[in-house]
Amino acid sequence: MSENAEGPIRRVSSLLMVIILVTLVLSVAALYQAIVYFGSEDITLGSWFMFLGFIGLALSTYMTFQTRRKRVRLPFEPPKVLTTILCQKCGMKNIRDFERGDFVFKETEPCPKCNETMMISSIYREVKEKEKS
Ligand SMILES: [Zn+2]
Repeated sequence: MSENAEGPIRRVSSLLMVIILVTLVLSVAALYQAIVYFGSEDITLGSWFMFLGFIGLALSTYMTFQTRRKRVRLPFEPPKVLTTILCQKCGMKNIRDFERGDFVFKETEPCPKCNETMMISSIYREVKEKEKS
Protein backbone atom coordinates (compact mmCIF):
# COMPACT_ATOMS: atom_id res chain seq x y z
CA MET A 1 0.00 0.00 0.00
CA SER A 2 2.97 2.31 0.56
CA GLU A 3 4.81 1.19 -2.60
CA ASN A 4 3.94 4.36 -4.49
CA ALA A 5 5.15 6.63 -1.71
CA GLU A 6 8.43 4.79 -1.20
CA GLY A 7 9.38 4.36 -4.85
CA PRO A 8 10.72 7.84 -5.77
CA ILE A 9 12.42 8.30 -2.39
CA ARG A 10 14.27 5.02 -2.75
CA ARG A 11 15.38 5.98 -6.27
CA VAL A 12 16.76 9.30 -5.02
CA SER A 13 18.63 7.67 -2.15
CA SER A 14 20.15 5.02 -4.44
CA LEU A 15 21.34 7.80 -6.78
CA LEU A 16 22.78 9.56 -3.73
CA MET A 17 24.49 6.33 -2.72
CA VAL A 18 26.22 6.23 -6.12
CA ILE A 19 27.33 9.87 -5.72
CA ILE A 20 28.58 9.14 -2.19
CA LEU A 21 30.43 6.04 -3.43
CA VAL A 22 32.07 7.95 -6.32
CA THR A 23 33.07 10.79 -3.95
CA LEU A 24 34.47 8.25 -1.52
CA VAL A 25 36.49 6.44 -4.22
CA LEU A 26 37.81 9.75 -5.61
CA SER A 27 38.83 11.02 -2.17
CA VAL A 28 40.57 7.74 -1.33
CA ALA A 29 42.36 7.97 -4.70
CA ALA A 30 43.33 11.58 -3.89
CA LEU A 31 44.68 10.54 -0.49
CA TYR A 32 46.63 7.73 -2.14
CA GLN A 33 48.01 10.23 -4.67
CA ALA A 34 48.95 12.52 -1.75
CA ILE A 35 50.97 9.70 -0.16
CA VAL A 36 52.68 9.10 -3.52
CA TYR A 37 53.58 12.81 -3.81
CA PHE A 38 54.77 12.94 -0.21
CA GLY A 39 56.92 9.90 -0.96
CA SER A 40 58.53 11.66 -3.92
CA GLU A 41 58.96 14.74 -1.69
CA ASP A 42 56.58 16.93 -3.72
CA ILE A 43 54.94 18.34 -0.61
CA THR A 44 52.96 21.11 -2.39
CA LEU A 45 51.08 18.68 -4.67
CA GLY A 46 50.88 16.14 -1.84
CA SER A 47 49.13 18.54 0.50
CA TRP A 48 46.76 19.64 -2.27
CA PHE A 49 45.67 16.06 -2.88
CA MET A 50 45.42 15.46 0.85
CA PHE A 51 43.20 18.54 1.16
CA LEU A 52 40.98 17.29 -1.70
CA GLY A 53 40.84 13.81 -0.19
CA PHE A 54 39.71 15.07 3.20
CA ILE A 55 37.09 17.36 1.66
CA GLY A 56 35.74 14.38 -0.32
CA LEU A 57 35.65 12.20 2.79
CA ALA A 58 33.87 14.90 4.78
CA LEU A 59 31.37 15.46 1.97
CA SER A 60 30.52 11.76 1.58
CA THR A 61 30.20 11.34 5.35
CA TYR A 62 27.87 14.34 5.46
CA MET A 63 25.75 12.98 2.59
CA THR A 64 25.54 9.54 4.22
CA PHE A 65 24.35 11.21 7.41
CA GLN A 66 21.72 13.18 5.47
CA THR A 67 20.27 10.08 3.74
CA ARG A 68 20.16 8.19 7.05
CA ARG A 69 18.19 10.99 8.65
CA LYS A 70 15.64 10.86 5.82
CA ARG A 71 15.31 7.09 6.13
CA VAL A 72 14.62 7.27 9.85
CA ARG A 73 11.83 9.75 9.27
CA LEU A 74 10.23 7.70 6.48
CA PRO A 75 8.35 5.01 8.50
CA PHE A 76 6.28 7.70 10.22
CA GLU A 77 5.04 9.29 7.01
CA PRO A 78 2.52 6.72 5.65
CA PRO A 79 -0.51 6.78 7.92
CA LYS A 80 -1.58 3.43 9.34
CA VAL A 81 -5.05 2.40 8.24
CA LEU A 82 -7.07 0.08 10.44
CA THR A 83 -10.13 -2.01 9.70
CA THR A 84 -12.79 -2.69 12.34
CA ILE A 85 -14.69 -5.94 11.91
CA LEU A 86 -17.94 -6.30 13.80
CA CYS A 87 -20.09 -9.35 14.42
CA GLN A 88 -23.73 -8.49 13.78
CA LYS A 89 -24.96 -11.25 16.09
CA CYS A 90 -22.95 -10.96 19.31
CA GLY A 91 -21.21 -7.62 18.84
CA MET A 92 -17.69 -9.09 18.84
CA LYS A 93 -15.26 -6.42 17.66
CA ASN A 94 -11.97 -7.11 15.95
CA ILE A 95 -9.44 -4.50 14.80
CA ARG A 96 -6.70 -5.35 12.35
CA ASP A 97 -4.47 -3.67 9.76
CA PHE A 98 -6.17 -2.57 6.57
CA GLU A 99 -5.76 -5.04 3.76
CA ARG A 100 -6.10 -4.42 0.04
CA GLY A 101 -9.72 -5.04 -0.99
CA ASP A 102 -11.24 -4.11 2.36
CA PHE A 103 -14.43 -2.06 2.21
CA VAL A 104 -17.22 -1.20 4.61
CA PHE A 105 -20.00 -3.86 4.82
CA LYS A 106 -17.72 -6.49 3.29
CA GLU A 107 -18.21 -9.91 4.83
CA THR A 108 -15.04 -11.37 6.29
CA GLU A 109 -13.93 -14.27 8.48
CA PRO A 110 -16.34 -16.08 10.85
CA CYS A 111 -16.72 -14.77 14.39
CA PRO A 112 -14.49 -16.55 16.93
CA LYS A 113 -17.34 -16.46 19.47
CA CYS A 114 -20.47 -17.49 17.60
CA ASN A 115 -19.09 -18.50 14.19
CA GLU A 116 -21.36 -16.02 12.42
CA THR A 117 -19.86 -14.22 9.41
CA MET A 118 -18.39 -10.91 10.54
CA MET A 119 -18.66 -7.65 8.63
CA ILE A 120 -16.33 -4.69 8.22
CA SER A 121 -17.98 -1.81 10.08
CA SER A 122 -15.39 0.91 9.57
CA ILE A 123 -12.06 1.74 7.99
CA TYR A 124 -10.12 4.58 9.55
CA ARG A 125 -6.72 6.13 9.92
CA GLU A 126 -4.94 5.44 13.18
CA VAL A 127 -4.49 8.45 15.46
CA LYS A 128 -0.84 8.68 16.43
CA GLU A 129 -0.85 8.39 20.21
CA LYS A 130 2.92 8.63 20.46
CA GLU A 131 2.88 12.27 19.31
CA LYS A 132 0.53 13.29 22.12
CA SER A 133 2.64 11.97 24.99
ZN1 LIG B 1 -20.26 -13.25 16.97
